[in-house]
Amino acid sequence: TDKEGGRRRFLLKLSGEAFAGGGGLGVDPDVVHKVAREIASVVREGAEIAVVIGGGNFFRGAELQQRGMDRARSDYMGMLGTVMNCLALQDFLEKEGIDSRVQTAITMGQVAEPYIPLRAVRHLEKGRVVIFGAGMGMPYFSTDTTAAQRALEIDAEAMLMGKNGVDGVYDSDPAVNPAAVKFDALEYSEVITRDLKVADATAVTLCRDNKLPILVFELLAEGNIGRAVKGEKIGTLVNG
Ligand code: UDP
Repeated sequence: TDKEGGRRRFLLKLSGEAFAGGGGLGVDPDVVHKVAREIASVVREGAEIAVVIGGGNFFRGAELQQRGMDRARSDYMGMLGTVMNCLALQDFLEKEGIDSRVQTAITMGQVAEPYIPLRAVRHLEKGRVVIFGAGMGMPYFSTDTTAAQRALEIDAEAMLMGKNGVDGVYDSDPAVNPAAVKFDALEYSEVITRDLKVADATAVTLCRDNKLPILVFELLAEGNIGRAVKGEKIGTLVNG
């Protein structure tokens, strides 16, 4: 649905892993700059963009748990990691001349606003990018689920999932199986019954139950954020 004045609102979910660039850990400013430039360009063209960034370039709770740490505590570490990604993106958006606000689910007044949905919507209406950090603020959830929840709460028309190194959803892992086949479109039920790697199951069922379309695409391919926002046929579209 078009907003007043014809602006269209999207929730962009960015892979934390992509932010690490070749390094695997931490933030590669060149990657963040590139992503910020593309977001800035779609915002200038009139799109309203809210962002959720993963934290896989810092910590994943489940991985730390496997190495002996308490799950909830490691999940909090994971959530804090996402905030560093948010600040990096905010910095480069500012350099592109785009106003943004970071809102975190765990309050940290010196670095970010608290998550206030109505305020987030006001920021978007004013042309600011809103970057949601610290996931849902709750252990055992993912940033994919956060992205779906935030998309629904701010009434975004779709969740655009920018992935690292894969250009859509395949019937098997294309990195392992060279004969893997890419889907152009999928139904939610297929994603769930075939356990396809779109997002975690909590996120996918939330989208299904609320009919929120999901577009999975390659984040770092030049111009792809613009294509995703314009509804061009890239990646894999999950709806219906
Ligand atoms: N996390 C959490 N609750 C949330 C969101 C994230 O506990 O609502 C933690 C969880 O440990 C997760 C980590 O933050 O592994 C980083 O997020 P995620 O794995 O979703 O990042 P991505 O894989 O998308 O980069």
